[in-house]
Amino acid sequence: MRLAVFSTRPYDERFLRAANERYGHDLTFLEAKLDPTTAPLAEGHDAVCPFVNDDLSAGVIERLAEAGVRLLTLRSAGFNNVDLEAAREHGITVTRVPAYSPYAIAEHTVALMLAVERRLHRAYNRVRDGNFALEGLLGFDLRNKRVGIIGTGRIGQIVARILRGFGCSLRAYDPFPNDEVRDYGVRYVDLDTMFAECDVITLHCPLTPETHHLIDAAALAKMRPGVMIVNTSRGALIDTRAVIEGLKDGHVGNLALDVYEEEGDLFFEDLSDQVIQDDVFSRLLTFPNVLITAHQAFFTQEALTNIADTTLGNTTAFERGEPSGNEIVPEEVRGDA
Ligand code: NAD
Repeated sequence: MRLAVFSTRPYDERFLRAANERYGHDLTFLEAKLDPTTAPLAEGHDAVCPFVNDDLSAGVIERLAEAGVRLLTLRSAGFNNVDLEAAREHGITVTRVPAYSPYAIAEHTVALMLAVERRLHRAYNRVRDGNFALEGLLGFDLRNKRVGIIGTGRIGQIVARILRGFGCSLRAYDPFPNDEVRDYGVRYVDLDTMFAECDVITLHCPLTPETHHLIDAAALAKMRPGVMIVNTSRGALIDTRAVIEGLKDGHVGNLALDVYEEEGDLFFEDLSDQVIQDDVFSRLLTFPNVLITAHQAFFTQEALTNIADTTLGNTTAFERGEPSGNEIVPEEVRGDA
């Protein structure tokens, strides 16, 4: 099939080309982000391959349908950027990569947790600068700390398994509790109990209208002083302005983010010679106890290999008129990643 790959970075091209040796699709690599102005670039293609910050709102989908696109083969697990109803109306099938390597994201989550509380981001710069002082780098043992996991799906349960190895005391909240997770010593509690009891809160639930700003001023007020918050899920789970207030008055002791609610204008680009216009994001960067990575939790060789293979496999299944099992239907509420 003729496939237009939007938001292409060199690594996308490398992994998709390698996988395509087995599938033989006709790939067009476009650096442009998909939005109303770039949608016409899909003209002449049967399918579009978007990434997490591409715009797949109703207007863009209508334009893609006019261009002859019949398949959106997302190279992500998450689909909160897709108007599924509009896709259905225009007869466009939407597929995704539900699980490419939950280990990649779970391991990055724990890396962020350790890095921010042991101040590795500051220590790295200090030592390179010949500053071997320890003041300002004081951390804490993760052992015996109470960690709350919000969402115990594919990623959350691996986080639970890893943290069990650290000797943490684990709590979880999920509307669909999982017995296997209980076997890792996790106790399911309601959110208020988790907020009141936990030293660390880590987010692994999908972004839905219900979870938008799940961590807001009211939630923060229920948390323990000095709480650490980790988000490798979706930025808008956190009300960033509220968390900044919590950082300023010391109520939030550590914040580690791989996602940010307005990341679409920032992440995946080299903006190092530009003035960042987002004042909220810039404020976050000023705190010594905040560590941010730019949506890189998925970025491992294993994950990129699986993403490329499944994305093109989904395309081949569609071409043959066979279900891949990775189609998203509008009713689907779980599984955003
Ligand atoms: P999953 O579908 O396997 O698990 C999600 C879990 O969240 C499910 O168990 C579900 O029941 C639960 N859930 C749903 N609504 C909830 C709510 N209101 N409160 C608490 N839990 C709720 O998904 P996954 O593969 O584990 O992915 C988790 C998240 O990780 C995704 O939603 C995605 O946003 C994020 N993600 C980030 C990256 C990255 O690179 N940073 C990569 C992949 C996925």
